[in-house]
Amino acid sequence: MSAVINRDPAGLVLDRLEGVRKSGAGWTAKCPAHEDRSPSLSIREGERGAVLHCFAGCPTQAVVDALGLRMSDLFNEPLSLPQRRQRATKAVLKGVCTEALIVVCAASPVGPRNDADTSRLKTAVARLRAALSLDGLQGRREIERVAAFASRILAGELLNDEDRDNLTDNAEWISWLVTDETKPGVAARLEGVTNNA
Ligand SMILES: [Zn+2]
Repeated sequence: MSAVINRDPAGLVLDRLEGVRKSGAGWTAKCPAHEDRSPSLSIREGERGAVLHCFAGCPTQAVVDALGLRMSDLFNEPLSLPQRRQRATKAVLKGVCTEALIVVCAASPVGPRNDADTSRLKTAVARLRAALSLDGLQGRREIERVAAFASRILAGELLNDEDRDNLTDNAEWISWLVTDETKPGVAARLEGVTNNA
């Protein structure tokens, strides 16, 4: 059963772009989020709405901002509040996954190598703790453990093998939550949201 399309998100986007050309099943246009000489932006109609991709690497959120639109404008149907919350939660979880990986790297036998590493690790702890303030976030216990390990590393403690295994297990569990719960198409569209999180 296909969803009832009550809006035209691709049309909304195309109206605001320059240099629009039909290309295959979709269109190309100049990306509004960077100084674009060749048409780097691809626009197509996906299952749930407009799918944007800048080949120069602009996050979808940046493209949407440059167009004066919101991420929600890309969807065929307006999302309900619980749906929006769920998507935001998953996007945050994806960000958490990256931060957990940074902690795993910092836990290597040599520890953080320089000031930049230490400063990045501090950011990771701050982001992990910020994520924990979000209601309904999955993997809360694992995130807390990863953050606790990061704090110990920052305190100058060198983790032993067992600690490192434990940390890696928790980080893997978080990444499993992300891959299992997020469909690839949705993940691509949420990329912008994640970058902002
Ligand atoms: Zn771009």
